[in-house]
Amino acid sequence: MRMPLIAGNWKMYKTVPETVEFINELKKLLAGGTGGVEVVLCPPHTSLGAAAQALAGSDINLAAQNMYWEEQGAFTGEISPPMLREIGCKYVILGHSERRQYFGETDETVNKKVKAAFKHGLIPIVCVGETLEQRESGVTEKVIDTQVRGALAGLDRTQTASLVMAYEPVWAIGTGRTASDDDAQKVNGLIRGLLAEVAGREAAEKVRIQYGGSVKPENTAGLMGKPDIDGALVGGASLKPDSFAGIIKAAR
Ligand code: PGA
Repeated sequence: MRMPLIAGNWKMYKTVPETVEFINELKKLLAGGTGGVEVVLCPPHTSLGAAAQALAGSDINLAAQNMYWEEQGAFTGEISPPMLREIGCKYVILGHSERRQYFGETDETVNKKVKAAFKHGLIPIVCVGETLEQRESGVTEKVIDTQVRGALAGLDRTQTASLVMAYEPVWAIGTGRTASDDDAQKVNGLIRGLLAEVAGREAAEKVRIQYGGSVKPENTAGLMGKPDIDGALVGGASLKPDSFAGIIKAAR
């Protein structure tokens, strides 16, 4: 059985004091335990150290929102996989649509980062998803196929089995417009089928595939009730401890 994974992607929000305050509040709200749900927080790089300290001794895990693929070197402004490991990250989000859209991320660079993550003991959360234009012109399946195969090219079965995928339709991100439970399941099922093609059915059954895009406490249970939706990547609703805790509780 796959343990549901709820991750809060804070994007470019929260200073260090805000991070610590949020975590202390969340820990209180989850004092009874996370109920068999794995919880991950993804603060901005500047808050990772403070988050790691505030999370020490809890069972909430830490993720970064991006990284570069080299270990070190003259790459002004970049952060390496070993740096994220050292600061306490278990996961790293890769290929988020905002990175693809605003920062030139491609399937090729996502693939380099995915490989670098595994090399350094980080688990990638690989994001894929179609734009509104692509959905309306009927190429969703093709887009997802290309993104999944591109991101995972060259991985072995064990690596593929251990990663996390996130289906995030771009038109649902930050818009308040969620994919219907059935639409989300359809694409998540497609992703699992692609994983089976590239790494075998056994590996594909192990992969947790999240849905992301305007997830909130009220729509979580419906999404999580679908067979191929194993969690959520939450943006806006992860910024307040009570709504994030509400999503975690609804995912049980
Ligand atoms: P949202 O963002 O929940 O604010 O739609 C999701 C994401 O981009 O990961």
